[in-house]
Amino acid sequence: MLISKKLKVAILIAICAYLPSNVFAWGMIGHRVVGQIAETYLTSKSRKAVQSILGTETLAISSNWPDFIKSDSTFNYLSSWHYVNLPGGLDEQGVFSYLNTEKSANIYNKIPEMVSILKDKHSTLEQRKMALRLLVHLVGDLHQPMHTARKEDLGGNRVNLTWFGNRTNLHRIWDENLIEYQQLSYTEYAATINHPSKVQLAAWRKTSIQQDVFESYQIVNKIYDTVKPDDKLGYKYNFDFVDTLNQQLLKGGVRLAEIINEIYS
Ligand SMILES: [Zn+2]
Repeated sequence: MLISKKLKVAILIAICAYLPSNVFAWGMIGHRVVGQIAETYLTSKSRKAVQSILGTETLAISSNWPDFIKSDSTFNYLSSWHYVNLPGGLDEQGVFSYLNTEKSANIYNKIPEMVSILKDKHSTLEQRKMALRLLVHLVGDLHQPMHTARKEDLGGNRVNLTWFGNRTNLHRIWDENLIEYQQLSYTEYAATINHPSKVQLAAWRKTSIQQDVFESYQIVNKIYDTVKPDDKLGYKYNFDFVDTLNQQLLKGGVRLAEIINEIYS
């Protein structure tokens, strides 16, 4: 009896460990941190415009909608919007020309499309709501480095590793494991990291979407260079990458606000 119980548990654990990851975004907390930080940089004009679209829903909470709807097959067409896969070894010009010739629906070409819908006087409230929720989410994803990663390993989803002894993969390390390790709620997280210098703010605000992709891509190259499959990640990885993680979350929030402010300027 005891053995069969143990066996059942072992089988269950094995099944769970082999379930494919369907996580393709910063986890819930990461997206909310980006939205929460963006709120603090909105002009009063854009704050009003956002409220007229989302009502009482904050940017932080609206950010998770594009992940929630993945359970509804009507929205399957949105699944490729969360990322753009790039080949390794490209320089800045290589990344730019790849982005501008790659015509599949991806994060790079969908962000400007959401901006256009929000700017268009003829868009309905329903269209604006969907476009804004997607914009908040996609600008977040743009700053999750593994969303500009390689096609051959599905953006790191096939690079299996352990995180403090638990099976995970490189994509999920960046979506969730590193963020959850900080043990902060999204509001605590935002308050902790939202202290950019004036120089940082000015530099981050003037970049284009393609420059943001390149920035993320450079981080990805470093991430790939520092791990190999089956590595056991833990304290050292957190120590080496937590600053990069926090800066990406902060940049995402600052840039999201900048894009929204520009729409309603
Ligand atoms: Zn996403």
